[in-house]
Order: sequence, then structure tokens, then C-alpha cells
Amino acid sequence: MANEENKRSGLLIVFSGPAGSGKGTVLGRLFEMRSDCVNSVSATTRAPRPGEVNGVNYHFISEETFNNWISQDLFIEWDHHFKAYYGTPRQFVEENLNNGKNVILEIDDNGGLEVMKKMPDCVSIFLSPPSWEVLEARLRGRGTETDEQIASRMLKAKTEIKHMKDYQYIVVNNTVDEAAANISAIIDAELSKTARVFKDKVVNFDNL
Ligand code: 5GP
Repeated sequence: MANEENKRSGLLIVFSGPAGSGKGTVLGRLFEMRSDCVNSVSATTRAPRPGEVNGVNYHFISEETFNNWISQDLFIEWDHHFKAYYGTPRQFVEENLNNGKNVILEIDDNGGLEVMKKMPDCVSIFLSPPSWEVLEARLRGRGTETDEQIASRMLKAKTEIKHMKDYQYIVVNNTVDEAAANISAIIDAELSKTARVFKDKVVNFDNL
């Protein structure tokens, strides 16, 4: 049986999808459903959007601090897009995995592919919009970006969609509830994989 010494380690979940695919909303629903999942808060040098809170949506830091963190190897991965740096702080992820939490990294395809290479045991999920038209409408409807910013995000979205085949799972965001339920089902299936159950000694019948 699971016990304190053989505490399960959590799943590292790479979660990507083009800007406007609804990643934030779907994850919000998932966190309401599951207390065993936590969000890794990335660091970024971009300015906060209205309503975004430091330490919740991102750690909003200066370029100088970002470079310091890179040189101290404090990131699992980092990247530069939309004229800003984005990175995944290492310590939070490692501590939570050790505490049995499933840690969700909401990162772009480049960061996602890097994590898949460095940590092959991770679970990778791509959130797809139902169609290109829906994605465009959602991006424009957000109303937080200029036309130029929307155009650059649409361009990046095309490349990201081409990378969706590199992910283990694709969840289509038709509705928030359905997408969150599908992700939750993937997490349960992954936690039930024979290799993980044996590795974490969830059950132990060695005495038979
Ligand atoms: P936004 O500026 O819209 O919040 O994010 C822009 C892009 O940066 C999104 O595709 C988002 O997934 C990605 N992103 C957010 N955090 C990270 C991170 O820690 N690493 C990488 N590589 N990309 C990130």
C-alpha cells in the first residue's frame, strides 16, 4: 500500500496550445476540480495585462533579473517570444512533484518540446481550438491586444498548431467543462499506468 516512505511523485504535465485556445480558462476549471494539480507560475519580462496579478499569473520580473536567473540555472526552460522572455522556475516544480502534486506547465510549443526532451517522463497535452475561425474570433474578442500583436499571435499560432502532433494527447476545447474533464481523465489514466504504479509502489505484493 502507499505509505509515507513511498509517497507518489506527481506528474509533470506540459500543457500547450495557441494563444486564444482557452488554456487559462480550462486550467482554472481543472484546478477547481482537482486539488492534486498545481499551476507552475512562469516568470516573464512582459508587462502585466489588466487584471493580471504578480505571483499568480506570472512572476513579472525585469530583464536583468531574468538574466540573473538564467545564469544561476534557476529555470527548467526559458524562451523569448513576442519581444519578451518567458521561463519556468525550477524550484517550485521540483518541490511540488516530490510532494505528489501534478504540476502543470502552461508553456508554448518550443518550451514544451524542450521539457519533453529533458524530462521524457512528462505527460504532454495540446489544447486545440475547434477551428481556425474560432481561434481568430477568440483572439480578437479578448480586446487586450493591438492589431499588430494579434497578427503576430496568429502567425505563432500557425506554427504551434503544426507542432500538435508532437504531443501525447490532443484535447479539443469545444466547451470549458468538457475540455477540463478530458484533461482530468488523462491525468487519472496516466496515474494508473502500470509503469508508474510500480515505480511509485502504489501497491506492493512482493510477499506473494
Ligand atoms: P502570454 O503573453 O499570452 O501570457 O504568453 C505568450 C506565450 O508564452 C504563450 O504561448 C505561453 O504559453 C508562453 N509561455 C508562458 N509561460 C512560458 C514559459 O515559462 N516558458 C515558455 N517557453 N513559454 C511560456
